[in-house]
Amino acid sequence: MALIVQKYGGTSVGSVERIRAVADKIIESRKQGHQVVVVVSAMSGETDRLLKLARDLAPQPDSREVDVLLSTGEQVTIALLSIALQAKGYPSVSFTGAQVHILTDSAFNKARIIDIDAARVQKALHEGKVVVIAGFQGIDSDGNITTLGRGGSDTTAVAMAAALKATECAIYTDVDGVYTADPRIVPDARRLDRLSYEEMLEMASLGSKVLQIRSVEFANKYKVPVRVLSSFKEGAGTLITDEDEKMEQALISGIAHNRDEAKLTIVGVPDRPGVAYSILGPVAEANIEVDMIVQNVSAEGMTDFTFTVHRNDYDTALKILEKTSEKIGARGVTGDKKIAKLSIVGVGMRSHAGIASKMFKALADEGINIQMISTSEIKVSVVVDEKYLELGVRILHSAFGLDKHGFIEN
Ligand code: ASP
Ligand code: MG
Repeated sequence: MALIVQKYGGTSVGSVERIRAVADKIIESRKQGHQVVVVVSAMSGETDRLLKLARDLAPQPDSREVDVLLSTGEQVTIALLSIALQAKGYPSVSFTGAQVHILTDSAFNKARIIDIDAARVQKALHEGKVVVIAGFQGIDSDGNITTLGRGGSDTTAVAMAAALKATECAIYTDVDGVYTADPRIVPDARRLDRLSYEEMLEMASLGSKVLQIRSVEFANKYKVPVRVLSSFKEGAGTLITDEDEKMEQALISGIAHNRDEAKLTIVGVPDRPGVAYSILGPVAEANIEVDMIVQNVSAEGMTDFTFTVHRNDYDTALKILEKTSEKIGARGVTGDKKIAKLSIVGVGMRSHAGIASKMFKALADEGINIQMISTSEIKVSVVVDEKYLELGVRILHSAFGLDKHGFIEN
């Protein structure tokens, strides 16, 4: 008998019929003799609907109250799913985040889980019940309701699996796994059977929206095997787990892309100690996250400094930078919102030279200009003109033979 945590996303519980179908899937696992803990999201569209209600009343509603509001979405689903299970003759019990003591910090709208007291869940499991838990929410040490950021139910599920030492955390979603590239862009992209935590972490931070980044961090830290699979069609999905030396590995596991970024350059910056800080300090103070940073080698004591931010932060960052430019005596500021980031990801990169140059050649052969480059041990990212995004993903996918051989073929 295994203990399995299953998470169902918003589309999977989007209607009464779908909730009934989820109940059937859970019952299947029960019939196989497993103990099942289920984490659910709000019904699809519900979180957005609630947010809009709040924003209709105030342009920037208080973040504590927003969490009180948003947590109701998941509370609806847990009750409905538990009712559906009971209607089919299966004992079950629903719990909110607070009821199972998902303790978080007090960062409303983006709280982090600190601790979970699994006792109440374990007791219900011992009583033979299916336990249905609200995703995305917790409670801080003052008893305030908190939420974990968009997509946070993934993190609840993985954290629950870690706390309960579950055999596996199955994330049921509307795609049937993690692909070598977005199948909407690359029709012959393939589903990966396996992917390492580190690779998934890179994919998630580089734009793949399959899992919330924090859930992957959690899974890696506590070594929870996570399986991404479809709630609508059969299949083994993609298993995210530790790297396995014995497995045959391709050089590259996947191509990620992201069109959410924008680039800013401050030109003709006097090159002296403290300049990077005087440029990025005010940006950080405005709570704007910076992704790629490039500073050129200086010529005649002057340098250019370029970085990327989320597109939503572009206008604010530009204003800040214009002020900084004046203050430090730079020549000026330029920016571009129409950029895209293309990345190749794979642990195979560690043991092979020439991966980056292969990438650059593939792009050059198509006349795609590279504007910025950044690398880590297992990824290479480039910024290109947004109009080349889809072409770029496709040519990289075939340049690395991802349509032919997989990361791991079982
Ligand atoms: N309901 C929340 C959202 O829409 C959390 C989740 O679905 O994971 O982001
Ligand atoms: Mg999601």
